[in-house]
Amino acid sequence: MKCSQCGTEMTIELTDVPAGWKQYDLLIRGVRTHVCKACGHEVLEPQDARMAQELSRALSEMTEKPEILDVSQVADLLRVSIQTVYNQVKAGKLPAVKIGREWRFTRSAVMQVLANAADASLNIAREAATTVYGPPEDAADAGTRPSVTEPTDPTA
Ligand SMILES: [Zn+2]
Repeated sequence: MKCSQCGTEMTIELTDVPAGWKQYDLLIRGVRTHVCKACGHEVLEPQDARMAQELSRALSEMTEKPEILDVSQVADLLRVSIQTVYNQVKAGKLPAVKIGREWRFTRSAVMQVLANAADASLNIAREAATTVYGPPEDAADAGTRPSVTEPTDPTA
């Protein structure tokens, strides 16, 4: 691949990619990187760039966990839109407190809702699995049941 900055053909090297957060220094070593010898431009493979980003985000979430959240933080936590959060609050599915004109949430309550929902979906999945893979309801005695479709002779 050619350098997007200067057009020189890039070489692949193993480099250390920083994924730290604030005071934490985190280096991912041995990442395959396209390096431009001419201008020093470096490009990661998309999946490696994503991995570094995810690690960095995980570190930031581990070190900064406010207990009180606003709507946008809950949306971020649940990976949904802000509108979805409002809808869930209105539907009574997310416990929230209105302070003035603003909704506030506790992290533990939001996580509890998520855990309960996950449990519920697991039960649904289990029931579905039983229905799909379980034996048919009357398969066991189907062979011993007397036949009701035996033709009768109307002239007898
Ligand atoms: Zn270059």
